[in-house]
Formats: sequence, structure tokens, C-alpha cells
Amino acid sequence: MQVLKGKGSSPGFALAPAFILKNTNLQFSHEQIFDDIHESKRWKAAHSQVVHDLSELQKKYSQKGPQESAEIAEAHLMMAQDPEWISNIESFMGQKHQCEYSVNKASEDFAKMIESLDDPYLRQRAQDIRDVARRILRALDEPNSHEEKITGDHILVAEDLLPSELLSLYSPQLKGLVLQKGNPTSHTTILARTFEIPTILTVNGVMEKVRAHDEIAVSGMSGIVTINPDASEKKNIQDKIQRDLFEKEELKNYISVKSVTRDGVAIEVASNLNSAHDLNFALGKGTEGIGLFRTEFLLMDRSAAPSEEEQYQVYRKVIESVFPHKAIIRTFDIGGDKQVNYLNLPKEENPFLGLRGIRYCLKNIELFRTQIRALLRAAQHGNLGIMIPMVTKVEEVLEFKNLLKKFQIELLNEGKKLEKSPETGIMIEVPSVAMIVDQLASHLDFFSIGTNDLVQYLCAADRMNSNVADLHDAYHPAVLRTLKLISDGVKNTSCWLGMCGEMAAKYDYQPLLLALGFKELSVSPGAVLRTRKQILSLDMESCHKILQKALLADSSESLKAALS
Ligand code: PEP
Ligand code: MG
Repeated sequence: MQVLKGKGSSPGFALAPAFILKNTNLQFSHEQIFDDIHESKRWKAAHSQVVHDLSELQKKYSQKGPQESAEIAEAHLMMAQDPEWISNIESFMGQKHQCEYSVNKASEDFAKMIESLDDPYLRQRAQDIRDVARRILRALDEPNSHEEKITGDHILVAEDLLPSELLSLYSPQLKGLVLQKGNPTSHTTILARTFEIPTILTVNGVMEKVRAHDEIAVSGMSGIVTINPDASEKKNIQDKIQRDLFEKEELKNYISVKSVTRDGVAIEVASNLNSAHDLNFALGKGTEGIGLFRTEFLLMDRSAAPSEEEQYQVYRKVIESVFPHKAIIRTFDIGGDKQVNYLNLPKEENPFLGLRGIRYCLKNIELFRTQIRALLRAAQHGNLGIMIPMVTKVEEVLEFKNLLKKFQIELLNEGKKLEKSPETGIMIEVPSVAMIVDQLASHLDFFSIGTNDLVQYLCAADRMNSNVADLHDAYHPAVLRTLKLISDGVKNTSCWLGMCGEMAAKYDYQPLLLALGFKELSVSPGAVLRTRKQILSLDMESCHKILQKALLADSSESLKAALS
């Protein structure tokens, strides 16, 4: 038995033999070829294999869903049949270039040209082009490739995986996904979450350590991969799988139900989004709005910031999709662990105590202006709350509100209709702000507590540093006292209080949050239904009793005991 650790990116448990997806050799020669008839035949065979596979995929997903899978397959099929792209490939081959070189060159030229355009829809197509090109290169490398060879339950182990590869390889027998590389906000991960496949990314060395048909156990949330688990670990994971299956079925009963306690207190159970691609997944879980949209991910994996128009389209889609519920969109929270190469953030000794979130935006008004203008325009399409991160003092809120007014006037002068004004709120992540909520409230509509950072700053324990992970403790009595302080501060104001940090999804803690008067809990989409189920089972009197007991705790252990 060997245990490896990666980044848990899609929850759930799995136990099955490994299927290792071999790396395709994507090397190719730039030398000119002589047998152009042979090359042309290879190209035609690979191209028709890919078109055939993609149309099968498109048929499969348009009949059975999910919708976004059908859309991806459709876009890839269209791309594979694009006459201009085909003609460019054939023209390189006409100049006696090797097939692989021609496909790669024509596709890269095309993708780069598209990436330089301002249209958000077209920009996304660059990813499709690269994906289809890799498919062709795989088909050239290994005609009649791996896809039919997998039978039975399996866990897919690969260095990395393209979205379209996941679509091809997906079947109910695909029980888990373990990647040596991967990115939590990539399309592949988003699809894995949509399919509810437990997924672990960035598992160092997994390709060397796992052999074909080794049995693998996957814990999708904690990021633990066990190769050839022993009997007791197998039993442990099998029990978890059974519990999960049973629970998933049962939770479907809560999709269209309101989140109301037994004694009639309504709570909004909203979702946290890292990307607009997570939206359908959240809607499928019956989310009551979006409580946190982390817009900084829009800045990543690209070479320049998105334009106002591109942002407007994304925000509008999110706002419209959850209407009449609210979408809380957080302004860029860059800095800390979220670095963006092209913004040249300063190198800092302690980035989590440095130029982060609103601090950065107030010093880089052009980037902020583009975002706020896009948000003000998008606000016209539903219920928007603009939320600012990493606030430390009242002056920052006032400066933000002044900018908001200024950009509103700017848009009105340009003839834009702004009939709806968004709500405004802040994240409570910094202890100084926890102590002055009453002073901030008259300038705001809501507060949402970001416990991931609040706990880090309260306990002086870097959330990224595994050496002090035990000190980053949401159950520290000081955290509960701080939540109480915030709740008391908000009580006599007109603001509402929510929580969007990971703590909102700690099921044992939720009764305390209800007793403290939280109106909204925003959790990852996968936790929406379980949270709702729990709220339906609670009543305020018992929540208050648990709170009274928990407030007496003088250690993390005794606090946990009070909740059990
Ligand atoms: C938080 O700090 O709790 C939060 C939700 O923000 P992030 O995790 O994006 O820092
Ligand atoms: Mg935070």
C-alpha cells in the first residue's frame, strides 16, 4: 500500500483498478517529407477518425446530456470541420511538411490569431482548436486509439487530460480521476465535477508509481490516493462509497425545496463559483443564488486582462441564470496565493499581508474601473451584489463607493441606462474589520465572512503552509467569539450577514451560524443539498442551546464536543 497526496478537486470516493492513459508522443519533425501521398493518406484517415469520434460524442451527449458536454462536443466537431483550418493544414502539407507539423502549425497560428481578438466567445474557441489538434495528433500517433480498450470500473490515471478526452473516456464505469498535473479551474476539472467524478490533481509522481491494473482508492475531497490499499483501507473506502451513494440519491429530494428551519426561519443556501462554468452544476443542485463569484480566476491562464465587454457578458450570464435570486460578485482578489503574471504584482515577503484584494485594486484603478463598469452594466439584468475583498478600514469602503459613483456617472454620460443599482457589501476577512462592523454598516448592504482568511489572520497561521495547518483552526474558540462579535455588531443595522468561507459548509458548525443570525450560507455547489437538508431539520431554539454550550468551550476539542 502506498499513499500519495494531491489537490482534491471534485469530491467523492472511489475504489477500482487503474487505467493509465499513456502519454501521446507529440514530437514531430520540421524536416520536409518526400512521400506526400502517404502523408496525405495519414492525414485523411486521422481526420475522418476524429470527425467520426466527435460526431458520436456529440450524438451521445445531445441525447443524454449534460448540456455543457454536448456543447463542447458540438464546438469541437464544428472546429474539426472548419474549411479554413483544413485548407491551411493541407496547404502546409502541399509544401511538403510532415502531417503532424502541418496540423500543429495551422492550429497554433489559428489559435493565436483568435486569442488576439476581443470577442469572448471567439477567444474560447482557441482552446477548442488546440484540443481538436491534439486529438488529430493522437490519432496520427496511434490510429484506433485507446478509447475502446477500457472495460469495467476503473480509475483513470494520466499526466493531464483534455476536456474532449474526458468526454470520450467518460462512462458510468469511470469512477475516479487522478492527474499528475491539472488545474482546478480547467474545463477538465469542471466537467469532472459536473459528472461528479472524484478527482485529484497535481499528484506528484503518480505516473511512475501506479502500474496498470493496480487497485486505487481515491478520496476526492482530501486529495488522498492510495495505491493497492490493504484490507482495512479497502473496507473503509467501500463504506464511504456506499454512504455517499445512498446520500446522493436521498439528497435529490431537496433540489426544489426552500431552505427553511422547522420553525420557519428562511436561510439562503447559495453557491461559491470559481468560474462561470461551474454555474450549471450549481443550478442543478437547486442553489439559491451565488454567494461568492471569485472573479480573479477570469484574469488567470491568459496573457492580458479581459475587456469590459468580455467581463460584462460573464457577469450578466451569472446574474441572469440565478434570477430572481441574488448573485454576489466579488471584485478581483488578486495577491496572496493568487498571482497573475502579466499584472507584475510586486514580490513581497508576506503576500498574504501585502497588496491584496481591494488594496491592489485601489492602487490600480484602470483594472478596477473596467471591472466596476462591467458590473454596473450587468447589474441591469437581475439582482447583483458587488462585494469587495480584504477590507481593513472604513476609508477603503468610502473610496470604493466614490469610485462606484464616478463610474456610474461615466456610464450615464455615455448614454447607458442604469436603472438598477447593485447592493454593495464587503468580505469580513481581516480581524480589524470584525471589530468595526457597526461603523461600516451605514455604508453597506451586507457582510459576508470569509473564514478561510479570517481564521488565517486570527490564528496567525498561513493557510498555504502545511507546517502550521493544525493552527489554521476554524474550531478555535476565538473564531466563534469573533463570529459572535460580528453578529452582535450587525444586529442593530440594516445589513444582512452571510458566510462564504469554507466554514459555511462545516455541517456540525451550521447550527451555530443559524443561531448567530446568518441569513445566507454560501458553499461549494456539491455541499448545497446537504446544507439544505440540515437546515430543514433544525429549529432555532436548539441552535441557540448549542451556541450557548459552544461559547463556553475553551479549546478546539471542547468546542467540537459541544457540537456533537
Ligand atoms: C475566504 O477568505 O474565506 C474566502 C471565501 O475567500 P478566498 O478563499 O477566495 O480567499
Ligand atoms: Mg479570502
